[in-house]
Amino acid sequence: MHRLREALDRTQENGAAIGHFNISDSVILNAVFASGRELNVPVLVGVSEGEREFMGVRQIAALVRSLREEFDFPIFLDADHTHSLAKAIEAARAGFDLIVFDVSALPFEQNVRQTKEAVEALKAINPVILVEGEIGDIGTGSEIHEEAPDLSKGLTSPAEAKQFVESTGVDILAPAVGNMHGMLKSMVQGQTRKRLDIERIAQIKGAAQVPLTLHGGSGTDDEDLRKAIAAGINIIHINTELRVAWRRGLEEGLAKQPLEVVPYKILPFAVESVEKVARSRLKLFNGRN
Ligand SMILES: [Zn+2]
Repeated sequence: MHRLREALDRTQENGAAIGHFNISDSVILNAVFASGRELNVPVLVGVSEGEREFMGVRQIAALVRSLREEFDFPIFLDADHTHSLAKAIEAARAGFDLIVFDVSALPFEQNVRQTKEAVEALKAINPVILVEGEIGDIGTGSEIHEEAPDLSKGLTSPAEAKQFVESTGVDILAPAVGNMHGMLKSMVQGQTRKRLDIERIAQIKGAAQVPLTLHGGSGTDDEDLRKAIAAGINIIHINTELRVAWRRGLEEGLAKQPLEVVPYKILPFAVESVEKVARSRLKLFNGRN
């Protein structure tokens, strides 16, 4: 029986981080699963509220569970950015391994109160479920943005991180440390990269003493990602990079076979394109390159 808590502990002991990839369909799910198996490293797939609505909460849970059981492989499922207790409870009941309970848009005290309530409710449904809380501002939308938002005022402080973790009982914390959801056009073109506040990550880790998640990892400088893992990041989210690869692969499949209508002859181009990105990110997170 694979458990996310154990996979997290083992990955940290190895000086590595778990790759978290958002999925909207079986193309990305299969690509992520194949990459994880190829490298023999655990993988975490995430579905936001929008992605869950598209795939079905119980349906995606059944898909991931069937892969984990049939292949005896550590693939786990996260209810990413869940903004209400009702949706968090729905995912916990469906068997998700992790819930990212995100009311970080609220003032700090309200965020603490609601997150604490969510931790208690979710652990009552499943005592081994993990709950991640979020403080600070890392923007919204894993898509391509025209302009960079000013996130400098929303950075997480180590004192706030400690207080938040102690008062809520969350298992995992998602801080704002220079990361941001989505990518700028210049990042998609490879001209610019996101940079992280490594010193802040180390201070937050020392203060909070729990596993840390880096959201919005797409387009981040490779060396910064390595340093972030060494400073205490345990889970890294990659979404937009996979979405870009999915679209490019799909376009290639359509362009190469203009008259083809059979999905399983067109979609393998998208699987391959996504797999390339997932494999390269997993290699980096697990110190294989
Ligand atoms: Zn996120």
